[in-house]
Amino acid sequence: MDILKTTAEIRAWVKEQREKGFAIHLVPTMGYFHEGHLTLMRQAQAPNAKVVVSLFVNPKQFGPLEDLSVYPRDIPRDSAMSESAGVDAMFIPPVKEMYPSGFQTTIALPEISKGLCGRYRPSHFPGVALIVLKLFNLVQPDRAYFGQKDYQQLQVIKQLVIDLNLPVKVIGCPIVREEDGLAMSSRNIYLSPEERVQATVINKSLTRAQSVVKAGERDTDSLIEQVKEWISQSPLANIQYLEIVHPDTLDPIHTIEDQAVLAIAVHFGKTRLIDNILLES
Ligand code: AMP
Repeated sequence: MDILKTTAEIRAWVKEQREKGFAIHLVPTMGYFHEGHLTLMRQAQAPNAKVVVSLFVNPKQFGPLEDLSVYPRDIPRDSAMSESAGVDAMFIPPVKEMYPSGFQTTIALPEISKGLCGRYRPSHFPGVALIVLKLFNLVQPDRAYFGQKDYQQLQVIKQLVIDLNLPVKVIGCPIVREEDGLAMSSRNIYLSPEERVQATVINKSLTRAQSVVKAGERDTDSLIEQVKEWISQSPLANIQYLEIVHPDTLDPIHTIEDQAVLAIAVHFGKTRLIDNILLES
């Protein structure tokens, strides 16, 4: 597996693979890999393609009071994991390589970013869209792989690709979960043992909501109240938002007619966890 650190190195590597006739598949990440990341890396593999994983803890997608300085990092471990998952190259640029002094461009998708996480993290999706657009420009991938765990992020990137006519196919991959249902996240290591046990209430409540919809519930206000009630049985859980939205536009839905996404952010102590589930009537 090749390790590339500069924009010149990634461009040269991509050019070389293209000249050999390979397509390029990109998996953008912030590292500290778990099975969710590895599943994206495996999904990205194809006989005619080379897989490049980017690892960049993007400062522009963290708010001033968020966990940038303590975000877990372990590049030797991540490199070993991605190499055994069959990745061809990792792009691990230093911050100054992506944001040299004088950098000033911003990018915003105000509609798709206005609810859910975007309401509480106003600089997050501008930061995500900016880094993903830079990665797309540098790598010029044929396909890029993202997890449905970050559902709003996936929709932001799909919209970015449409709006700017980017020649890349965005692939959304299902949420990978721990055995007890907790969505895998690099941030799960922040949880105390007690918080970790109580965090299972999230997925339990989401799947229970799915059954309630299957059984005939259509009114989202009523469903939201029920889910809040189930979550509140775990005293360490502190809900930031709980919304039922249209799967593409992310606009709030009042009556479930076909499909809807139930998306949630919950704090356990200082740790903020997100999760979502597709509701189908
Ligand atoms: P991150 O390193 O947290 O920025 O995540 C990198 C990519 O992995 C993003 O596309 C995430 O949506 C995806 N991802 C993270 N956790 C999971 C998970 N539990 N299941 C599926 N994809 C995930």
